[in-house]
Amino acid sequence: MFDPLQFKSNFPLFFQQENKALIYLDNAATTQKPQCVIDAIVDFYISKNGNANRASHRLARSATSILEDVRQKSANFLGASHKDEIIFTSGATEGLNLLAKGLSRQLDKDDEILLSVAEHHANLVPWQAVAKKTGAKLVFINNNLEDIDSKLTHKTKIVSCSAVSNVFGQFNGVDRFKRIKKKYPDIFLIIDASQMVGKTPVNVNDNFCDFLVCSPHKFYGPTGVGLLYGRRDRLRCLNVSKFGGEMIESVDLFESSYAEPPYCFEAGTSSLAAIAGLGACIGFIESQFEKGMLAYEKKLIGYLHERLSVFINDFPEISLQTKVKDNIGIAAISSNRYSMADLGFWLDEHDIAVRVGDHCAQPLLKSLGLTSVLRVSVAPYNTFEDVDALIQCLYDFFKKNNENLCTTAPFFLTGDESASDYKDELSAINYHDFLTTKSWANKYTKILSLGKLVAKKPFLHKDRYLVSGCEASLWIHVIEERSQKETAFNFVVDSDSIIVKGLAALLLCRVNGKSAEHIKGIDFDAYFSDLGLEKYLSESRFSGMQSLLKYIWLAIDK
Ligand code: PLP
Repeated sequence: MFDPLQFKSNFPLFFQQENKALIYLDNAATTQKPQCVIDAIVDFYISKNGNANRASHRLARSATSILEDVRQKSANFLGASHKDEIIFTSGATEGLNLLAKGLSRQLDKDDEILLSVAEHHANLVPWQAVAKKTGAKLVFINNNLEDIDSKLTHKTKIVSCSAVSNVFGQFNGVDRFKRIKKKYPDIFLIIDASQMVGKTPVNVNDNFCDFLVCSPHKFYGPTGVGLLYGRRDRLRCLNVSKFGGEMIESVDLFESSYAEPPYCFEAGTSSLAAIAGLGACIGFIESQFEKGMLAYEKKLIGYLHERLSVFINDFPEISLQTKVKDNIGIAAISSNRYSMADLGFWLDEHDIAVRVGDHCAQPLLKSLGLTSVLRVSVAPYNTFEDVDALIQCLYDFFKKNNENLCTTAPFFLTGDESASDYKDELSAINYHDFLTTKSWANKYTKILSLGKLVAKKPFLHKDRYLVSGCEASLWIHVIEERSQKETAFNFVVDSDSIIVKGLAALLLCRVNGKSAEHIKGIDFDAYFSDLGLEKYLSESRFSGMQSLLKYIWLAIDK
């Protein structure tokens, strides 16, 4: 019988003083690491560190044998027939880039590359680059792959799909891919298994793909190492795209010949310590499979959906975007009315880690008319009590903060408004009030009330006004008022997050109506530090402020 608490006891992070209350529900981004993986990494550096494949001394031999031993373990874990079908990469992203570049020589102008609209950017952007270079066409199937058969034609050269959506956790199953493989044996079929491995046993020998990529850090392994499986005969069709030491057979000044796969794809020194950690991780996860880990995870995701379904009955403006069936551990909610970024902030304040945003799947969200999704992703160290605490915190957010967080200042849309109608919107703010506010609770309330001063401005919601690098959406526009003496700058903003609006207001009240010279004289580092916000704000939220500042510098420097 699987015991989540016993499982959790393997993960030292949860027992550090600062993490004792942490509820970690961002496992689709990365999982925590068990002691055995940490030990294997430390042990490598303490007693086995040498460079693999390069020298014959004892430590080099030991590093080489770890590398090859983990290659064999990885092959067994994924069901590959030979260890030389396993290439070590730095992660799924590098694996997909190697495949896109490596297969580009197989493509002609009229060929088609089939992807789904649900792909992670890592399985989209490299193909866009290849399509541009080769003239091949990208063809898209819908997010649950239902129309895949109708999109396959004699022109289809490559199919590259994720087995599980990183936003909605839907496992597409491998039968569909097996059928394609059987019907179109020449197509290069690539599976992005980043969210699949560790959540269900994988057997590539089952003939459902030619290539498969994954990132062990998503299944208790270290960051810095990834796996690319390629069927032996298909690896021979893959061009080498990374060059350097150890991938060669011989080198002359003008020509080189390359080593056999997989070595020709592993230029340079591999992440050997991480690979040692991966070896430990595979042993760990296989033993947990045997203990019933997957069945427990299924129950947990069922319970999470049950509780969320009841919750959204009380708050119908929230939508549950995920289903329990075939779900490998993700629940996602969205709302057109409430800010998911603010909700994420609230959960973080209560030490519940989730992820909010577009999850590197912008086309998927756009196709569904969504801008931001709050994703809860579980792992077997999560308990039913963790789910209860999350739901309680959601109720608290909406009940206690409903008034504050979910309404914006009234806006009077006339249909032909412009940013200049709002240029004085922040003029009444006195930031000195904030400087004298001591407790975080009071600062938080003040940020919310400042945020409410910033009116909703749908006319600003355009890509050209969007500030990149901010967790929530933040739009900004500058209005210059020229007089004989000088030019005064007024910045007008909007955001889907009241907190971000409040933070932006605190920044903009210092600069609005001022000249470039005046703004340049403000010591913003000192200002931020006087506001006392850094220690409360996440890196990404704080970097949103920095991005805003960068925008201001650019605007006044023009
Ligand atoms: N593909 C999917 C489906 C993912 O979820 C992720 C990461 O979240 C990636 C690819 C990229 O993985 P990595 O950043 O580890 O390379």
